Amino acid sequence: MAQETQTPRLRFAPSPTGHLHIGGARTALFNWLYARQNKGTFVLRIEDTDRERSTDEYVHSIMAGMEWLQLDWNEGPLHQIDRMDLYKSYVEKLLNEGKAYKCFCTAEEIDVRKKAMLASGQKPKYDGLCRNANQNQQKPFCIRFISKPEGTTIVHDLIKGDVSFENAEMDDLVIQRTDGTPTYNFCVVIDDALMRITHIIRGDDHLNNTPRQILLYEAMGFTPAKFGHLPMILGSDKTRLSKRHGATSVLAYREMGFLPDALINFLARIGWSFGDQEIFSREELIEKFSFENVGTSGGVFNQEKLLWLNAHYLKNLDDKTLQVMVTPFLEKDGFRISPEIPMDKAIHLSKERSRTLLELSEALKFYLHQSVTIDPALKEKFLTPLAIELLRELSHQIETHSDFSETSLKAKIDEWITGKGLKLKDVAQPLRVALTGSTVSPGIFELMAVLGKEKVIQRLKAVS
Ligand code: GLU
Repeated sequence: MAQETQTPRLRFAPSPTGHLHIGGARTALFNWLYARQNKGTFVLRIEDTDRERSTDEYVHSIMAGMEWLQLDWNEGPLHQIDRMDLYKSYVEKLLNEGKAYKCFCTAEEIDVRKKAMLASGQKPKYDGLCRNANQNQQKPFCIRFISKPEGTTIVHDLIKGDVSFENAEMDDLVIQRTDGTPTYNFCVVIDDALMRITHIIRGDDHLNNTPRQILLYEAMGFTPAKFGHLPMILGSDKTRLSKRHGATSVLAYREMGFLPDALINFLARIGWSFGDQEIFSREELIEKFSFENVGTSGGVFNQEKLLWLNAHYLKNLDDKTLQVMVTPFLEKDGFRISPEIPMDKAIHLSKERSRTLLELSEALKFYLHQSVTIDPALKEKFLTPLAIELLRELSHQIETHSDFSETSLKAKIDEWITGKGLKLKDVAQPLRVALTGSTVSPGIFELMAVLGKEKVIQRLKAVS
């Protein structure tokens, strides 16, 4: 086939009626991967003909989501709203060729007739009454495309295999509404054909539209693209992923401190596999992606797995890069990065146990606080009169100790503890609580070295 030798052209065609959804992002990703793998073109088309529900804010937010995920497009964004005259010209063409007609039936009239069909055991659909009606009536009308009375339309789906549809089951599709606006199924065919899209990869919620679109391609003299319909993403209860299952917008995952590479890896693995491999760099995904390995049943969105992947990507980033990435999270909560604290070292100590940038920023806050707030329950449990006495003595010991490196501090404090016939554990937890306000932190000597002498002494004095 001619398409085989063509450079592939793929597209992502979101409707800007909401933010970029996790499912939409996966659709964009699979199109992008195939385009990149085959040195093809990836087009971004905004399907904004629904003027009531489309907003510029959503257009910007969808593009921001794609930019964050680094799903770059080669053409676009093209807006359907700029192409209304084009769609009109094709409506005229179909009318002139007798392939479409004006339908003057009201919704109520159609409803009554459909109910009668149902009552007589027929499948209810528009009965084609206006195919033979006077086309010059001065009444509101929509325009319908004449469906085929018989035969089958087969969708040769790249993922699902061949799927057959009986033409007789299809209504005469509305291609232009009573208000004069063209419909989705019509615009999408004209755009995909004129933009020379070779592969249409989208959610399988569109599978039923595809035979209608194929018939429109044929009627307008276009060659249909190849189609691939991706199974839906499911929530943990195996129902279609929705807000009930938690955040569904891509940018919400950015806010929660996920890394774009982790989310890309995660999305790729929902419904696509390559043996048992779980971790894929972008380059590997581009190399290994194939439609054959996309599953035919819905993939589950597993938040725990996303956290696991994110932790993996996070700990493999270098400390300076992480510092740049985590800073906005700290600043959002009113913290200022001060040169007194070597943040890259602080990050190094916490990145292994942080699964998200948000968790990492939480783990860093104690370094930046002016003073530590200690929960009364922790105070009662750990800062006993005896512990306070020990901390006071420790504070004196290290006040005169000039080398505040981890090894030197450890040697100094070990010596003092042994001298008193104590064990590190007698001092470590009260010390940790006094310095961080928490019982969980990096190693005590490491964190003291990062916190610095001045802050350590100040915090010890504050409790003793
Ligand atoms: N605008 C449609 C949607 O957001 C895209 C349909 C398609 O890819 O053909 O569902």
